[in-house]
Amino acid sequence: MLPTRPDDPDCGCGPTPAEQKKLFGAVTRRTALTAGLLSAVLIGAGPVAGVAPAAVASEADPTWEDVQRARANTAAKSAEVARILKLIEQLEAKVAEAEQAARDAGDEFHEAQQAFFDAAIAADELQTQADAADEDAQDAGDRIGRIVGRQYREGSVAPLALLTATSAAEADSLLNRLSALEMIRKRNEALYGEAFTAKNTAQSLADQAKEKQKERDRLFRQAERKMKRAQRAADAAQATLARHQERLETLKAQLAALTDSTGKTVSEYEAGVNAEKAARAERERKAREQAGNVTGGGGSAAPAPAPTPPPTHTPTPTPTTPPKTTPPPTTPPVVNPPAPVQTWSKPVRGTVKINSGFGPRTTQCGPSYCSSGYHYGSDVNASCYADILAVAAGKVVYAGWNGGYGNFVKIDHGGGLATGYAHIANGTIKVTVGQQVKPGDLIAGVGNTGNSFGCHLHFEVYKSGTPINPEPWLRARGLL
Ligand SMILES: [Zn+2]
Repeated sequence: MLPTRPDDPDCGCGPTPAEQKKLFGAVTRRTALTAGLLSAVLIGAGPVAGVAPAAVASEADPTWEDVQRARANTAAKSAEVARILKLIEQLEAKVAEAEQAARDAGDEFHEAQQAFFDAAIAADELQTQADAADEDAQDAGDRIGRIVGRQYREGSVAPLALLTATSAAEADSLLNRLSALEMIRKRNEALYGEAFTAKNTAQSLADQAKEKQKERDRLFRQAERKMKRAQRAADAAQATLARHQERLETLKAQLAALTDSTGKTVSEYEAGVNAEKAARAERERKAREQAGNVTGGGGSAAPAPAPTPPPTHTPTPTPTTPPKTTPPPTTPPVVNPPAPVQTWSKPVRGTVKINSGFGPRTTQCGPSYCSSGYHYGSDVNASCYADILAVAAGKVVYAGWNGGYGNFVKIDHGGGLATGYAHIANGTIKVTVGQQVKPGDLIAGVGNTGNSFGCHLHFEVYKSGTPINPEPWLRARGLL
């Protein structure tokens, strides 16, 4: 049997003969073929120009029998080649369109994410300044309080004393004291002024910090929304590719059979396609089997072969749970130090070396882009395609394109902690959204995608969404 169109009406295939009739009543298979023939497209030519688009677009895929027949006749062969090229072009355009949509959504996510990072860092800085200003204002207030208190205790000179002065010398001395007091009064006034300004500055900074925090929270929600949208677009692109893959493979094999120069028969080409189909079904079956207890999840931007062992995410044992291997308590119970709540892994194998640290930096420009002015992560030294490992247990919340970060994976570790892995090599993402990972699980390969100047891992750590410096974080866990 030589099926050309799966039974699934939603397969994304060309219209059925019935649909064709409805759409292009006058166009028969024969006229369509003639149109293709008249265009006299050469074998191996790129996109087919000059072929009546309506006629070609309306056609169903050729059968292997069509291919066999066309091979025997030069004219029919060119027509069939032209037709197949057009079909391939259309299918590839659909896949490319979905991929472009995923890329655009990933770019938008990146922009929203960077805007949030900028606001988060700015809000933190303003809050720090506001706290410092508040302390200054309190100090200034305390100083005034102390000075005024002391002057009150020491007493001051009443101008009335001048009138009762009995000698010029006494009057002089009193006048001197009065001018000294005038100086003190001026100084006090200045101090009051300073304290007042400090209080105002503190208030203004506190207000600004509050506003920035509001903006940060709004941008956070926006970035989260765009992340989900980008994920959906990546899943859709993956689904489009999967849906068209089989048809594309068949069409390409048919094209190869028509333009064959190796002496292979049409049946051999057909057998090759069927073997690949069976192998793919088997790979998918195994992947499903392995991902047995993977929760949730859509696809990822990369066709993930899921070679990772089945995730066996177990909840962290609480220190109160006695280990199963504990011998009977014949000896006095030993007070164990609190068990670590989480175990960690380095993000790459071997020594972790940071090439570029977190924080403000000078913008670096390449031929088509510039690095950002603030570095929200640490650049870990690693060669192309080196393994990227999950630093802690958690759930994958993003796996796909992320603008300047290239291919990107984000893992939520719970308790407000998350990590991000950027510039991942194309086609190397091994995890899907919703998947649970363990510390040290292979998640992707090091690459140079996005705004990157050579293979490395751009590693980020987030606390309640805000990026923090990964270096002290890694060092505190003995990973650096
Ligand atoms: Zn970086």
